Amino acid sequence: MTEEFNIKHNDTYPHHLMSSGSGFPRQPRLLVVEDQPLHIQVLNRALSPECRVFMVTQGKQAVQFCVDRQPDLVLLDVEMPDMDGFHVLEALKADEATRNIPVIFVTAHTSTDMETRCLQAGAVDFISKPINPSVVKARVHTHLKLKFQSDLMHQWVYLDGMTGAFNRRYFDDQLQTEWRRAQRTAKPLSVILMDVDFFKAYNDHYGHLRGDQALRTLVKAAKPVLQRPGDFLARYGGEEFVCLLPDTALADAATLAERIRKAVIEQKVLHEHNLGLGVMTISLGVAESFQSGIIDAEQLIGAADKNLYVAKHSGKNRVCFTDQ
Ligand code: GH3
Ligand code: MG
Ligand code: MG
Ligand code: MG
Repeated sequence: MTEEFNIKHNDTYPHHLMSSGSGFPRQPRLLVVEDQPLHIQVLNRALSPECRVFMVTQGKQAVQFCVDRQPDLVLLDVEMPDMDGFHVLEALKADEATRNIPVIFVTAHTSTDMETRCLQAGAVDFISKPINPSVVKARVHTHLKLKFQSDLMHQWVYLDGMTGAFNRRYFDDQLQTEWRRAQRTAKPLSVILMDVDFFKAYNDHYGHLRGDQALRTLVKAAKPVLQRPGDFLARYGGEEFVCLLPDTALADAATLAERIRKAVIEQKVLHEHNLGLGVMTISLGVAESFQSGIIDAEQLIGAADKNLYVAKHSGKNRVCFTDQ
């Protein structure tokens, strides 16, 4: 997962309105990083009634787990043999994908100095050993509440309320983040830009409300085509949408674009004024970061936009990309 605020790209909106028994919108996922069996047992017993508890015993595993699985909260032992808690936290803070996962330090050192050092390193809280189960439970509950509130806030800021796709602001943020990551890792980054065909005529004929409904249907059709955790769909503006596809080469992006085109047709949204098919269609332009002439994120979008233009002017309802 790549997103900066732990938003799950395939979450449905507005899932936060549903509540599980614990008062959280879903079962919280907690990572416990601890090397001593006794402490593992105590923590597990205290926390498993409220959370799904995952355990790892080494620092390196902890960092990998956070990248792959994005837990809601981490309880981190300070003293561990391979990589101590401070190094784990440092690694989490250094990666945009894990930076915002809250971490509580757990340590047998109870001095004020140690406590200060933990908080300065970026931990949200500090729990001392020997572990008191009710204290741990209460603190974990509080921090989970804060975590879910902050996720919710980011959803409001980053989702397009009308369609449930991510919004332009989120796309712009992620585009810069993913561009930098792609440069760092020397992996391709692709985008698909899409636009509804003859949508002005659709609105004129069926009315704006049906137009809005058609855009929601488009999103509903396109979203499931994107299956990798880093892929997502955003509303670029009006009736234009965009997919960001990290670690994806042009040919694969073009295949996804073609699947999205077909998925939209399969929705059979009646569109009398769409030449030929009589149902809603979209045109799509695709581009990839390794293509020649593309040296920044803006040019990547520009290239996709150019191909979208080609798609529009060569008959619409098609995918276009520059084959080099
Ligand atoms: P083309 O096939 O070349 O894309 O033609 P078009 O008619 O789709 O393109 P144009 O850019 O002329 O029109 C886009 C229309 O999309 C105009 C605008 O009213 C409509 N539109 C943009 N945003 C929304 C929206 O949120 N809801 C609705 N219902 N319509 C929208
Ligand atoms: Mg230890
Ligand atoms: Mg348009
Ligand atoms: Mg259009």
